[in-house]
Amino acid sequence: MKIAVIGGGASGLTAAIAAARNGSEVAIYEKLNKVGKKILATGNGRCNYTNMNLSIDKYHGKNTKLAENILEFFDLKRTLNFFEDLGINPYIGDQGKVYPGSLQASSVLDVLRYEVERLNVGEVTEFEVLELRKNKDKFSIIGRDSVHYADKVILATGGKASPQLGSDGKGFEIASSLGHRIINTFPALVQLKLNGKFFKRIAGIRFDGVVKGFTDKKVIREEDGEILFTEYGISGPPILQISRMIVEELNKNHRVYISVDMFPQISKFDLYDILNTRFNKIGYKSIGDGLIGFINKKLIPVILTEAGFENFDKKCGKLNKKEIYKIIDILKDWKFEVTDHNSWQQAQATAGGVDMSEVNSNTLESLKVKGLFLAGEILDVDGDCGGFNLQWAWSSGYAAGHFSSTLV
Ligand SMILES: Cc1cc2nc3c(=O)[nH]c(=O)nc-3n(C[C@H](O)[C@H](O)[C@H](O)COP(=O)(O)OP(=O)(O)OC[C@H]3O[C@@H](n4cnc5c(N)ncnc54)[C@H](O)[C@@H]3O)c2cc1C
Repeated sequence: MKIAVIGGGASGLTAAIAAARNGSEVAIYEKLNKVGKKILATGNGRCNYTNMNLSIDKYHGKNTKLAENILEFFDLKRTLNFFEDLGINPYIGDQGKVYPGSLQASSVLDVLRYEVERLNVGEVTEFEVLELRKNKDKFSIIGRDSVHYADKVILATGGKASPQLGSDGKGFEIASSLGHRIINTFPALVQLKLNGKFFKRIAGIRFDGVVKGFTDKKVIREEDGEILFTEYGISGPPILQISRMIVEELNKNHRVYISVDMFPQISKFDLYDILNTRFNKIGYKSIGDGLIGFINKKLIPVILTEAGFENFDKKCGKLNKKEIYKIIDILKDWKFEVTDHNSWQQAQATAGGVDMSEVNSNTLESLKVKGLFLAGEILDVDGDCGGFNLQWAWSSGYAAGHFSSTLV
């Protein structure tokens, strides 16, 4: 049986391996000049390929529950074994994030490519699939200059996140042309643009903090970790983590805010004691100088302005309790309005995609077109930051590859 895998990303490579291991003749059709380019960019070049705390709660989408069988079929244990068999020794970092022992994303791609080669999987690169048709029992895979044929097809073209790495949403057009419904897509795991004129001055400052997203009506989500101010607003793992829900609210035209706590380990009460003692000790210094050594120097004028101070020459010893608390309110509860999010270009995942209720939730075969399977980010399943998106790519890829090559 001939199986065509459209898209040579994380899910397509795993699908090809699974199908070829079952004895099928497999070819991968990849638009770029090499397969797996996105894998190289993952985890800041270290590839956070799964997470020890895998559970369905880490995933989002309209019918996320339908992803559960697939995540159980090719679960964490099977994923770790799959990669160990290929030579990847797992290294477990913070929050259960799993990386290759080499801390090199290229090793993950290398071992997948060796396996693809060992199994004689065909790689047709620089072949953009423009159209997919089914006539009787055969699929036609139509490119710019040629047409290829297959008995079964696995559509693994990814979503729209980071189109410079190949995934530009073409897969949605193909799926839609075959009768699939696409749940509204938007960038997930993306940086946020914030209201404020001072971001250019504080860009590059990092700290371990807590961020909370909220609207006028509810708290959306709270996360901790390394936060980074940027020229446009804010970034860092906790920001990416809360971004999906924030973008969802922005899309509903709701006003959305975030609050940042730069001293999550210290209560407001204790922070008052610390600052009060400090300011008494250096009462002769101006407040502009009095915070040097306590917070990043570039932040001082911005924080004092935000706290309502106009005169930074005022002596530390002259600050009253109310004024110290004004500084503390910014340090522990700095509020910003979210004006927008970064574009698809900077996003790491796609929310939305092919409706999970239109595929068999055990095999990922399309319920619209027999013999067509879907895998990876093209489906309406997106995970939290921390290895969950690649896990979905491996699990869904392996399932699609396995069932396409075993089901009649
Ligand atoms: C910068 C960055 C960092 C990330 N870091 C992590 C991380 O550390 N951990 C984690 O879990 N997730 C991470 N992710 C998310 C993760 O990489 C993706 O969810 C995952 O790669 C999706 O796999 P996929 O196979 O479905 O799609 P993709 O990896 O996007 O692969 C799709 C492939 O299909 C090809 N293609 C598209 N259209 C066509 C067509 N018409 N014809 C032929 N080929 C086509 C593309 O060129 C591409 O090679 C990161 C993403 C980015 C952008």
